[in-house]
Amino acid sequence: MTDETMRAVVAPEESAAFEVVEKPVPEPERDEVRVAVEACGVCGGDDAAREGHAYGGGLTYPRVPGHEVVGRVDAVGEDVEEWEAGERVGVGWHGGHCFTCEACRRGDFHSCAHADVMGVQRDGGWAEYTVAPHEAVASVPESFDAVEAAPLLCAGLTTFNALRNSDAQPGDLVAVQGVGGLGHLGIQYAHAAGYETVALSRGTEKKERALALGADHYVDAEAEDPAAKLQELGGASVVLATAPAAPAIESVVGGLGTDGRVVAVGVPEEPVDVHVGALVGTRGAVEGWASGTALDAEETLAFSERRDVTPDVETFDLADAEEAYQRMLDSDVRFRAVLTP
Ligand SMILES: [Zn+2]
Ligand SMILES: [Zn+2]
Repeated sequence: MTDETMRAVVAPEESAAFEVVEKPVPEPERDEVRVAVEACGVCGGDDAAREGHAYGGGLTYPRVPGHEVVGRVDAVGEDVEEWEAGERVGVGWHGGHCFTCEACRRGDFHSCAHADVMGVQRDGGWAEYTVAPHEAVASVPESFDAVEAAPLLCAGLTTFNALRNSDAQPGDLVAVQGVGGLGHLGIQYAHAAGYETVALSRGTEKKERALALGADHYVDAEAEDPAAKLQELGGASVVLATAPAAPAIESVVGGLGTDGRVVAVGVPEEPVDVHVGALVGTRGAVEGWASGTALDAEETLAFSERRDVTPDVETFDLADAEEAYQRMLDSDVRFRAVLTP
């Protein structure tokens, strides 16, 4: 037991600026692990707590956001057998599952009907300590710097998992739309996976970095029609759409090759207007992908280490969470903001 307090950032209510508060260090329940946080990323998904987009409901205020947590196990509940104090761990978007719903009984834990999201249905990692259910905790190798590992727990995991669960084969044309927090990792994974990799962005500002990260081609979507350019290159097997903007997604549907997929991992607030003719002609689709489980996170970390996939990070103190969040929204971070307590 502890009666200590900690520094934490909270969303005090819907659509209000983040605040730094002192609150009690949370006690782990029987099946939970307490993590002493070393770093936690700032993600577009943190708009859930900020703006009250509760995926699956159950969002109450005040709420501590944050779902790219890296730290050390600090205490475990009495039923936890696989973790012990001192181990290096991380927690991502997926904040636990019920083991008993239909999806869980099929082993599809990520689709659990009662899944919690870190920083939405339960407090996340923008704090000195957080607690998570034992099954949501991933092992993080000691070789990782905490600040560099944190973005891999959501941005990395999501882009890696979306690509490896697609039908794209080595040598296929894979485009990554948006060179930001998710996109700069998506480019690295696409390159490392052996795809002919296209980076799509507006303007030329990010061209050099995108090519250095492994893109074989760079398309300036302001200067040329990205769909026509993708067709010129042979048609895309996958366009990984990381920019949360409907017009951006709409602009690439015509760039798909046969059986191509636009896989959206950035979520626009507005609906996406798709011309079905382009999909009928290619047997194409526009689909979505979110995150993954703790095991997926461990596999993302292992692949990232093996193939040297590293995020570009700017670090902020917990107290500057509001600034970090606003700069993330403005695409003014190169390329991922990480808070350190
Ligand atoms: Zn995220
Ligand atoms: Zn379930």
